[in-house]
Amino acid sequence: MRGVSIAERLEEVRARVARAEQLAGRPAGSVTLVAVSKTQPASAIREAYAAGQRDFGENYLQELSDKATELADLADLRFHVIGHIQSNKAKIAVRCGSVIHTVHAASLAGELGKRAAGRGAPLPVLIEVNVGGEEQKSGAEPGEIGAVIAAIEAQPSLALRGLMTVPPHTEDPAGARPYFARLRALRDEHGGAGRLPELSMGMSHDLEGAVAEGATLVRVGTAIFGARQYAEPSTK
Ligand SMILES: *Cc1c(COP(=O)(O)O)cnc(C)c1O
Repeated sequence: MRGVSIAERLEEVRARVARAEQLAGRPAGSVTLVAVSKTQPASAIREAYAAGQRDFGENYLQELSDKATELADLADLRFHVIGHIQSNKAKIAVRCGSVIHTVHAASLAGELGKRAAGRGAPLPVLIEVNVGGEEQKSGAEPGEIGAVIAAIEAQPSLALRGLMTVPPHTEDPAGARPYFARLRALRDEHGGAGRLPELSMGMSHDLEGAVAEGATLVRVGTAIFGARQYAEPSTK
């Protein structure tokens, strides 16, 4: 028995995003779909690529490095780094990532800036914010955002693009929405969309609420690729 193909699932997710944009009164195409391919084989990325997908999200830097090598022939594929970055892995993030969503501290901004020096164009980065104040989760506390912004803006090789969050898990997708609203409010406190145009928020089960609250990047894994392929290493 054959399951639903990646191309078909991708089509469904694109339709969900389009419907959410429309419901929110936002222009079609204002939300970029990042297909989260962590734990999936390179062949699954090729399948999505063949169906027109270009933006992919990866969490684990060694896995990202391996896939970037394997998929080097797909020149216009963009990898988004969406997992926690230890400073000793900053080099891989800079080499393989087109966008970094998870700058959680000023020190990491310094490390990424140093590694990105000499690139052609500045590397787009977002600040990961721990909106739920969860102890086990990485991300800057809301009160630290200003300092991380300053650290990024001090690096000519980095381009500050916005904020990212993973809200606390709730069974009901609507439960995430107040956290998405909170990220948007934090953006407004720190210079608004002029300074922080991107909001990276929303996943397979709650992307609609995120788009309603202004997401410009949604990160969707299982709704496109199905269940993940192997047990995830613990990230913390
Ligand atoms: C795994 C992951 C996703 C995708 O989650 P799904 O529920 O599979 O859509 C999005 N963002 C981050 C940071 C992730 O780690």
